[in-house]
Amino acid sequence: MEPYREALTDTKYGSLWLDQDDRPEPLAPLTKDENCQLLIVGGGFTGLWAALQAKERMPDCDIILIESTAIGDGASGRNGGMLHASLTHGANNADHHFPGEKDRIGQLGRRNLKELLESLERYGIDARYENVGSMTVATDESQVASLRGAYTRRKAAGADVVWFDQDEIQQAVNSPTYQAGLWSRGGQDGLVDPARLCWGLKAAALSLGVRVFEDTPLMSVSPEGTGMRAVCAHGTVHSDKILVATNAFPSPFRPIRKSVIPIWDYQLATEPLTPAQLAAIRWGETRHSVSNEAEMFHYYRMTQDNRITWGGGGSVCYYYGSRTDPGVADDRGRFERLSKEFFETFPQLEGLRFSHRWGGIIASSTRFCMVPGVAYDSRVSWAVGYTGLGVGASRFGARVGLELLGYQPSEILDLQFVRKRALNWPPEPLRWAGVTLTRHAMANADAHGGKRGLWLKLLDRLHVGFAC
Ligand SMILES: Cc1cc2nc3c(=O)[nH]c(=O)nc-3n(C[C@H](O)[C@H](O)[C@H](O)COP(=O)(O)OP(=O)(O)OC[C@H]3O[C@@H](n4cnc5c(N)ncnc54)[C@H](O)[C@@H]3O)c2cc1C
Repeated sequence: MEPYREALTDTKYGSLWLDQDDRPEPLAPLTKDENCQLLIVGGGFTGLWAALQAKERMPDCDIILIESTAIGDGASGRNGGMLHASLTHGANNADHHFPGEKDRIGQLGRRNLKELLESLERYGIDARYENVGSMTVATDESQVASLRGAYTRRKAAGADVVWFDQDEIQQAVNSPTYQAGLWSRGGQDGLVDPARLCWGLKAAALSLGVRVFEDTPLMSVSPEGTGMRAVCAHGTVHSDKILVATNAFPSPFRPIRKSVIPIWDYQLATEPLTPAQLAAIRWGETRHSVSNEAEMFHYYRMTQDNRITWGGGGSVCYYYGSRTDPGVADDRGRFERLSKEFFETFPQLEGLRFSHRWGGIIASSTRFCMVPGVAYDSRVSWAVGYTGLGVGASRFGARVGLELLGYQPSEILDLQFVRKRALNWPPEPLRWAGVTLTRHAMANADAHGGKRGLWLKLLDRLHVGFAC
């Protein structure tokens, strides 16, 4: 058997993060009708931050949060834990979609991250935060050129960035594929354990009096008098308002189904590295996350017990009909591909085995960042579609969702980022054809030194993004 297949033989399906002894016991489902002022649907970062911020703004507000399976079981407990201040996948993307707002959005993102970290302190949430920044590496000449350009621009703008040429980057993290590196180490960007963050937020919300029901899927929503009626599997919630935080999952709201699609992303986690293996890759000291500058990029990091989690690359995909069911979650071929790509990057780790494999859904919008919205005369709001950059941004999304419901609205509601409608994804079969074509075009660009074909150039002109 090839070593990359052998490395997968004892893996367990499921997120490494959620597989911890101190995972809290699930809370009981909703089994009877309930009333509240605010119903939050979805127990990932967005829903949990919404509950916390609503209680901070209005301590007396009666809040129910329902989660269809378990808190953190969606993207929030399955991600890379890379925490970034950016709300929009960088200033360039903000400038593309919301001209004139990139500085303001940048400030809001930094403030959001600062407040997020202050909340961790305030509520005693040990999310294993490490302020280590992030490294982007180049693995071919065209990537070196684009990374160098990014370095020059960001340095000129005063950012704390460090350039590594080929020798230097291989000294920092030893992969024969690296040709250059750019370490962004200023600010508060870093790493967290995403499941611990979810569980900490859940405990904080409960301590403030939020009523949380797990194993409680929302089935349908309708207006009722001046409020809303939310029918769940074994009970109905009558509420004044609803904040929807279901991200890439099938939504009862048509505007969400049109503006966000589920892109599957797969991850592997290795066993803890031995001291000899750590020495062979020389990454143990800086511990920043790493991603490469490719279109179909990999992103990876070290955990506190010295494992590597590895995701992205050629396995990222979309299934016809926006499928999110378990049938596509455990795709052997995609994990084999991920494993092969891992050992191409770190051949000196041959023999290392993976302990966990899992898939998760990224809510992708055509603008590469959060899409907010309202329905039923602003009795319902949502914030979805972070397109793979939601660990930090979801807290801001939750704030937008609350303010759209009229809870202490502020000037952020005037931003194009909040007001401008996102371009919808086309219906099937165009959706599948377009995404699949884009995926092939991106892989093709990677295989040909970054040369963008006609299709990618057209998308660039239309400012349409793909999975990230
Ligand atoms: C593999 C992977 C890697 C990623 N890596 C990173 C990263 O390193 N850095 C980063 O910034 N971002 C990353 N992301 C993105 C980030 O995880 C998400 O943007 C973020 O978690 C979104 O949080 P959320 O609460 O909006 O959505 P989710 O965490 O998906 O939560 C939605 C919740 O709603 C629940 N739900 C759905 N439908 C219903 C219903 N009908 N009734 C009740 N509940 C319902 C779901 O069960 C789920 O728990 C990654 C995502 C994935 C999938």
